[in-house]
Amino acid sequence: MIIGFPKERDDKRVGMVPPVLSKMSALGVEIYLEKGAGEGAFYADADYAEQGARLVSREEVLAQSDVVISISPLPEEEWSKLKPGAFMVSRFAPYFHKDVAERIEKAGLRAFSLDMIPRTTLAQSMDVLSSFASVAGYKSVLLAAHHLPRYFPMMITAAGSIKPAKVLVLGAGVAGLQAIATAKRLGAMVEASDTRLAAKEEVESLGGKFILVEGAKDDASAGGYAVEQSEDFLRRQREEVQLRATKSDVIITTAQVRGRKAPLLVPTETVEKMRPGSVIVDLAASTGGNCELTQDRKTIVHKGVTIIGNSDLAADLPQDSSFLFANNIHNFVKLFIKEGKLELDMENEIIKGALIV
Ligand code: NAD
Repeated sequence: MIIGFPKERDDKRVGMVPPVLSKMSALGVEIYLEKGAGEGAFYADADYAEQGARLVSREEVLAQSDVVISISPLPEEEWSKLKPGAFMVSRFAPYFHKDVAERIEKAGLRAFSLDMIPRTTLAQSMDVLSSFASVAGYKSVLLAAHHLPRYFPMMITAAGSIKPAKVLVLGAGVAGLQAIATAKRLGAMVEASDTRLAAKEEVESLGGKFILVEGAKDDASAGGYAVEQSEDFLRRQREEVQLRATKSDVIITTAQVRGRKAPLLVPTETVEKMRPGSVIVDLAASTGGNCELTQDRKTIVHKGVTIIGNSDLAADLPQDSSFLFANNIHNFVKLFIKEGKLELDMENEIIKGALIV
């Protein structure tokens, strides 16, 4: 069985890295990698070859592989180049792209969607969403610190004292918690809010202050994900955010509701009440943004407030993101490839969740 990794398009990350290759090969498979696929993340072809991968052309990866793994889905025009019945493994987001499974089936292919792996303890080692969200949370704080015209930590110097920066994190899931931890390490004062009550303890354990807005809907049956909130709750939450925002130097927003538009938490009115020089980093930009003024993949300045819209910050740390992804992939693939053969256990919750075609 051949597992292939094509080079990602417009992305420096790569789906496999040399340190994970020997574990992959131990599953009894051959690994094909498109030449130069690791370059953007500083993984050299020679290092892959030394670990037993075959470096081949893109055409060969697509035509020969039984399983093709990529961080972003292959462009649809390339699907016809795959072997009939081949498996694509990627992040297809079927909760947004409702007909993607049907299109893959029509193309005579099969697919696992990595973003459908259940968010359970058992599946934690395969959870690419968590890997990337964690990197993005870290990077969001570094970006904010880079743009902020002030220090993050408190400074007491002979030339005067500087107060610590105030950081407000909206959405304390994986990305938000990593943002809290990073901002704390840099010495900022951190407040955070989430609709899931379970987040309170996590925020507090990282030294953040939890902002509780009463009356949030919290549904245990949503698999840990947030559920859509009532307009009344969101209005009260926006009021609470506005109170804090005017005193914050940085707002990191990460609030998402799976399969829906991101909730609006920072309206224009709130941005205009923030101090000039403040920074907003909106990680929910690709699903509409938590800030009304966010423009996806753009950095704008509105009345002195810098607003960075980027939901793909994990791509900006390509070496570690690729390493984490490759480990997630190894843990996932070993569920259904045994001694070089495909073995799909349809009783397995993780296989059942991720297999979209
Ligand atoms: P996500 O990216 O879907 O959303 C980010 C955060 O925004 C979530 O914490 C969500 O509750 C919050 N949010 C939504 N609407 C909001 C609003 N109006 N105001 C404030 N916050 C709002 O979340 P995620 O980081 O992918 O995590 C989703 C869930 O999965 C969490 O419960 C997390 O603990 C859980 N999880 C489990 C595992 C595992 O065990 N394998 C791994 C990672 C995450």
